[in-house]
Amino acid sequence: MGMDQIVYTVADHGPWLVVALLTLNLGQRRHLEHGERKRLATLYLSLLALGIFSAAQLILLYDWPSALLLLAVAGVVVVAMTNHAYVFPFRLRCRTCEVRLGIKRIIFYDSNRCASCERADGEPADTPPATPTPPTPPGGR
Ligand SMILES: [Zn+2]
Repeated sequence: MGMDQIVYTVADHGPWLVVALLTLNLGQRRHLEHGERKRLATLYLSLLALGIFSAAQLILLYDWPSALLLLAVAGVVVVAMTNHAYVFPFRLRCRTCEVRLGIKRIIFYDSNRCASCERADGEPADTPPATPTPPTPPGGR
């Protein structure tokens, strides 16, 4: 698949990704009291997706070189990585016991803990969001 084709594909299907993320974002509104950070995260993700989609549209509109899309993607990746805690607060495993989290816990709960760990601590549902965990050093576990 050539770069031109990739630009066309992104320009054609990009809106669906944005719509899907915003639809998910609407669903997250019912979980505001324990999922505010994750709701914001899908909003940020949809903005980043919109950025890449808009770049593809501009490239087609002004007949710019297709390789410029790589620049847009690189820019979005840099933004996402420097704001990792805000853009991607999702974890697949419980912060406390490492058990795999269900899809609802992953998408709707900021705590990133399983239901039984939260019950065990008797935390109220409106616990303030935990501060983002620092990244683990490379090589360490
Ligand atoms: Zn747990």
